[in-house]
Amino acid sequence: MTQTQGICIVAEINDSKNPTSLTFELLGLGRKLAAETGTPLNAIVMGSDISAAAQEVARYGTEEVFALDHPGLAQYDPEKYMEVLSSFLKDRLPHVILAGHTAMGQDLLPRLACSLGAALVTDCVGVKVGGGEILFTRPIYGGNALATQKANTDTVMATVRARVGDAPAPADAAGAVTAVADIPGVSSRLEFKGREVVSAKECPLEEAPVVVSGGRGMGGEEAFEQLRELAGLLRGAVGASRPPVDSGWAPTTCQVGITGKVVAPDIYVAVAISGSTQHLSGMGESGKIVAINKDPEAYIFKVSDYGVVGDWKQVLPSFTATLRELLQE
Ligand SMILES: Cc1cc2nc3c(=O)[nH]c(=O)nc-3n(C[C@H](O)[C@H](O)[C@H](O)COP(=O)(O)OP(=O)(O)OC[C@H]3O[C@@H](n4cnc5c(N)ncnc54)[C@H](O)[C@@H]3O)c2cc1C
Repeated sequence: MTQTQGICIVAEINDSKNPTSLTFELLGLGRKLAAETGTPLNAIVMGSDISAAAQEVARYGTEEVFALDHPGLAQYDPEKYMEVLSSFLKDRLPHVILAGHTAMGQDLLPRLACSLGAALVTDCVGVKVGGGEILFTRPIYGGNALATQKANTDTVMATVRARVGDAPAPADAAGAVTAVADIPGVSSRLEFKGREVVSAKECPLEEAPVVVSGGRGMGGEEAFEQLRELAGLLRGAVGASRPPVDSGWAPTTCQVGITGKVVAPDIYVAVAISGSTQHLSGMGESGKIVAINKDPEAYIFKVSDYGVVGDWKQVLPSFTATLRELLQE
């Protein structure tokens, strides 16, 4: 990378040490931006024992993939990751750094931008080239309007939502992979004590092709079992609006919305959810939205592709039973 040129993707890897689906989407987006601006596309893969993931990323149109491989980076730690990335990037800043709008991206990029004096745009739903500049689009006012921004700095960092880019086909030839030998300062004031997987079936929401979400109208924790059943049949994940999370009916990790997760599955099923702007901010980009609500005036129907007006207690069991029959045929 030469000074303030090029597009750089901060890859994320999953528990199986594979690049996440959002990483591939960012590579697709980065490839398009790089082609349109005539600059190189590079990527950074961080973690422990990640050389295979770096090789995989290099198949998707990058000029160079930098593998920051160190046992101390096995678990995401904001202090370690920030220190290592900031030291690696300070003498080779690209023009644009893109990361996913994930828990890690939202945590890491603001720290990094601050440390390197770069501009930051978060929660992007669009990144494109316009008038020779990179333009970033993000929701404002709780998702009621979209703002398009450009940066006045040499380097700009952005977190990008899922489904903004299209995962590309592998390029004709793989790019170079450089194992970065000199990794400084893998230290932190935090100590990793262990991780509890809340529910392997339900999360990660962001990657599920189908999300079945319940709202306040579900009425209680037990009702979420029915959502789990439907989500299981559809090989999807269970989500929730904020009231069920506040009431302890569903874990915090399931919350969809402006203060929860942003999802864009192929199908989003909203059961007993009214469709507040705060909720829509987290799922409005879904492929098809299906709503079940007893109130025909519920706002969710205005943004749904399919809607059923009725009590979920009657609609959902027959919906699930019919689906099960169809899947058995
Ligand atoms: C700063 C801030 C951040 C927020 N962040 C988020 C966020 O990230 N995510 C989020 O979701 N919310 C968030 N909220 C809350 C948001 O404003 C709404 O209050 C919330 O989304 C409403 O959730 P709901 O649709 O489940 O509940 P309600 O608005 O109460 O709607 C319940 C719906 O269930 C229907 N219903 C009831 N019983 C049945 C039945 N038996 N069968 C069928 N339908 C039935 C009703 O007709 C109604 O439409 C936030 C609010 C603030 C102020």
